Amino acid sequence: MDLCNIDDIRYVLGKHGFRFSKSLGQNFLTAAWVPAQIADSCGVDQTSCALEVGPGMGCLTEQLSQRAEKVCAIELDRNLFPVLRETLAGCDNIDIVQGDVLKCDLAGICQEKFGDTPVYACANLPYYITTPAITALLASNAFQAITVMVQKEVAQRICAPAGSPDYSAFSIYIDYYADAEILFEVPRDCFVPQPKVDSAVVKLIPRSQPPVPVCNEKLFFSLVKAAFGQRRKTLANALNSVLGNPLGKAGIIQLITDCGFDARIRGEKLSLADYAALTELAEKRMAQD
Ligand code: SAM
Repeated sequence: MDLCNIDDIRYVLGKHGFRFSKSLGQNFLTAAWVPAQIADSCGVDQTSCALEVGPGMGCLTEQLSQRAEKVCAIELDRNLFPVLRETLAGCDNIDIVQGDVLKCDLAGICQEKFGDTPVYACANLPYYITTPAITALLASNAFQAITVMVQKEVAQRICAPAGSPDYSAFSIYIDYYADAEILFEVPRDCFVPQPKVDSAVVKLIPRSQPPVPVCNEKLFFSLVKAAFGQRRKTLANALNSVLGNPLGKAGIIQLITDCGFDARIRGEKLSLADYAALTELAEKRMAQD
């Protein structure tokens, strides 16, 4: 059976009475080169294991199983279990776990299934949980690399450099925790049902250290969130919600200019290192007040 062949997909899904759920982001791959290329580029080999999110009917799971020592796939939709039992019957190194990736203990699952063997995360992510799923995968600290297919625009946001139109708070969040790269694009006609957007595969390699030291992570991320939450405002106005009370408007402008920026600069112009410097000085000023 070819798990990306549209006739085989329709036959197997029809036999099990399966219907695609839009709310679960079920767009299955119909182009065999895509799961093969994801599995080839994610880093897994015979000496390591793979954790997949959302196997669907198993096209990527099968490819991972051919390259990895063991595979564990987390699937939310119970209706896919009889399908997966049939499609992956020939693979003896795959474990399918029922669950919601956002509620699972990912590090615990990796420890239980793979022990201390290195693990690579892989997924054709459902669009509706892209950001929280990537955040959960990164936060688990369980993976050598995380290779995920997401909406093309989200991939561009993840990898956007400072000052570019796609640059966002999520770009800084990702850059703080991982080295991110877009590997390749996948057009919308590679899926059934066909989504309204194109996709891209992104690879994240978790960093052992942030690229720049940050003295107070909580303050750093609240400054970034405030700055991008109100993109049309100047940085000084946007930071008022976080720093207005201790420093006042004049104090915030002084802080920005003392960091070497124009008083009317917008938050999207600042790099991760700039936010780190701003955080350090803000913390000092708040301690003085
Ligand atoms: N891997 C398959 C492929 O590439 O053809 C299916 C990918 S489809 C975009 C997303 C898959 O994630 C579906 O199987 C869906 O049921 C599953 N899913 C949706 N929400 C989930 C969640 N919160 N946790 C785990 N799996 C989920």
